[in-house]
Amino acid sequence: MSDCGAAKHPMQDGFSFQLEATSPEGARAGRFGTPRGEVLTPAFMPVGTQGSVKGVTPQQLRQVGTQMVLSNTYHLAVRPGADTVRDLGGLHELMGWDGPILTDSGGFQVFSLGHRNRISEQGVEFRNHIDGDSLLLTPESVLDIQARLGSTIAMVLDHCPPAEIDRDAAGQALARTERWALRSIEHRQRLELFEPMAVFGILQGGTHGDLRRQGAQRLTEMPFDGYAVGGVSVGEDRDAMLEVIADAGRYLPLDRPRYLMGVGGLEEFLIAVENGIDLFDCVIPTRNARNGTIFLSDGGTLNIRNAIHRRDREPLEPGCDCPACQTFSKGTLHHLYGRKEMLGLTLGSLHNLRVFHRFLENARKALLEQSWEQFRASIRSGFPARSG
Ligand SMILES: [Zn+2]
Repeated sequence: MSDCGAAKHPMQDGFSFQLEATSPEGARAGRFGTPRGEVLTPAFMPVGTQGSVKGVTPQQLRQVGTQMVLSNTYHLAVRPGADTVRDLGGLHELMGWDGPILTDSGGFQVFSLGHRNRISEQGVEFRNHIDGDSLLLTPESVLDIQARLGSTIAMVLDHCPPAEIDRDAAGQALARTERWALRSIEHRQRLELFEPMAVFGILQGGTHGDLRRQGAQRLTEMPFDGYAVGGVSVGEDRDAMLEVIADAGRYLPLDRPRYLMGVGGLEEFLIAVENGIDLFDCVIPTRNARNGTIFLSDGGTLNIRNAIHRRDREPLEPGCDCPACQTFSKGTLHHLYGRKEMLGLTLGSLHNLRVFHRFLENARKALLEQSWEQFRASIRSGFPARSG
């Protein structure tokens, strides 16, 4: 159960969040209202790094249940550049997607390319991975860029250190993240907006529960429209990651969307939803689909490149309502992957996205129908993942 009550500040005009159902432990079904449409939560956001979910059209995204997508500020700022995106009518026009778009701040990419960056109180200076040009990302500039892109939900710049740092360094990164969050709050008043934009704060603190707790108290006093849990799945061991996920929602306001950044996998989703998380993103369903890894609804996977599928007339997953399973057999998919046909990668991506979306749709349905316990038990009995 959450230790935190309602936030004391209103959300940005045009944005709202309503809880529809809550389990005794704090799992929730909600409605996140945005000027670009409503998102029924819990919900998963496919990742369109370069302004495109690879190999999948916006119409197909809708078809498999996508309500909101994520795109990467860093990549778009480097190429084609925020001004070019603006000249093309903004990110929604560029992507051909009229629903909500969440953009990250670019911080994660910069910190994950650690050897190229220099961190100061002002921000992060780094050489971009394309032409080596130096660029300074500050709490102010990342919001300016996201406003210029026309993002629906912008993320603040945070200091996301690698998992192996000690407690002191994690504390320093958290303190810097908080100072940057305050600067973000001040700067949002001065933004030139092309459309309404919500801003989410990010909780850091590494795997240190006390740091995360203190950080959450200070962060939630700042008037953000939603709160994200960052610094998860950055190289820590799985038990530590699950502990952070289990603790994550606990200290964040009840009446604001809560977003667990970059964590994917149905088992992680179950634990996170159980602990009050509403929004997810991850590259895994689409990236792994391109390698031939097909996700199954029970948490298992199969490799469609495997020769055992060569003459298999069954769909990837019997009963699946995705465009791949409705029309094509595993044997066809195996052939398409083997011949490097683009259609194979698209179909694999559509199936994987559908599995991820359907999992959270079912979680939501169970919460609304007061059958969360049964849902959780039925899912748990299917884990751990099987492979084939
Ligand atoms: Zn399918």
